[in-house]
Amino acid sequence: MTVIGLRGATIFDATGREPRRADVWLRDGTIGEIGGGVPAGDGDALDLDGHTVLPGFIDAHAHVGLLSLYGQAAWSDAEQAAYVFRNLRESLDQGFTTLRDLGGIDGGVVKAIRAGLVEGPRVLPSGQILSQIGGHGDMRPRASDEPENPSFGCGGLVRNHALCTGTDQVRAAVRTQFRRGATQIKMFVTGGVLSEGDPLDVPQFTVEEIRAAHEEAAGHGSYVTVHAHSDAGLLRALEAGVRSFEHASMISEEAAQALKRAGAFAVPTLAVDEVLASDPASWGVPAHLLDDLDDLRDSQRRSVRMLFGLGVPLGSGADLIGVEQRSRARQIYLMAKEIGLANAIESATRVNAELMGLAGRVGTIETGKIADLVVYEGDAAVDPEIIGTRPPAYVIQGGRIVRRP
Ligand SMILES: [Zn+2]
Repeated sequence: MTVIGLRGATIFDATGREPRRADVWLRDGTIGEIGGGVPAGDGDALDLDGHTVLPGFIDAHAHVGLLSLYGQAAWSDAEQAAYVFRNLRESLDQGFTTLRDLGGIDGGVVKAIRAGLVEGPRVLPSGQILSQIGGHGDMRPRASDEPENPSFGCGGLVRNHALCTGTDQVRAAVRTQFRRGATQIKMFVTGGVLSEGDPLDVPQFTVEEIRAAHEEAAGHGSYVTVHAHSDAGLLRALEAGVRSFEHASMISEEAAQALKRAGAFAVPTLAVDEVLASDPASWGVPAHLLDDLDDLRDSQRRSVRMLFGLGVPLGSGADLIGVEQRSRARQIYLMAKEIGLANAIESATRVNAELMGLAGRVGTIETGKIADLVVYEGDAAVDPEIIGTRPPAYVIQGGRIVRRP
């Protein structure tokens, strides 16, 4: 039996309990005893006086395979694979032991991680994002009459968005993603910032199309999560049975209350706005979209506070894209500014685990759960600057130390 002891740290277990000082013992990859009194010499021990132990972070909205906004089709498969694997390794280094990838990554990546060929978090892939023609995922130049999106990526690794029209094509696209290893389905039901010709407040897909995806996913024992900035598309998806909403940036109070009544989750995505706004030119974000991006940041922050105030369960997603995905934990820091640090950490751990159906295995520090943990020097459950600006000291994945000081 492999045993690791974590001695003397402050434990923030994400169950709603106050942080407390306790020893934690990890046995064969799971969390064992929590509390003092474990005899010395029972396995290896890390002396973590002055450190804080948190559950391993979960990013509910990752895109480790979306590497370039407009140019990925020109890259070789080898380059794309190398960047994907680096993004995965760096996610671990930032304390993220689980990623729900919401578009891009295919099932082959999960197999490579499970086989130990590459280091990375537990990944829940979505495969291709479903988009309507002319929707947020229609990447064709507007003058082009090509029937399909420009293809990028390669099978098993990364794929472009799937364009579909009508319930039959939607069902086929959903079945295809599950065939390739998707664990949930992602669908665009409103416009987005970085695509032209589909404003944020315009709905995409009909209720019937969204319901077709929802039924197919439910039949597979899974679910659909929708990209929805504004009410019209969001309410269509709610009517169609969807209970998981990404962004919800411009949601009205009435729609937020409808989410609450339905028991739906929302996943705010604040980190990506900060990344794009900090250097829009290098991202190739056209100048005329910058004002939209600013407005979106403001309204997204307002929406987070409103949803939280109404008691809608809030997950947490960084929504990072590109080849430098090094600010995943900024999501927790930015959420902390709106809802407080303890709630922001719980969003990125326990609530994310709940919305992904992983609550029995990860998301809190409780005996019997998988030993996915992140350890910071200092009082990381009290001072948001620690998670927001520093790397963790240790990251433990399934009881194995994968990052050390
Ligand atoms: Zn996204």
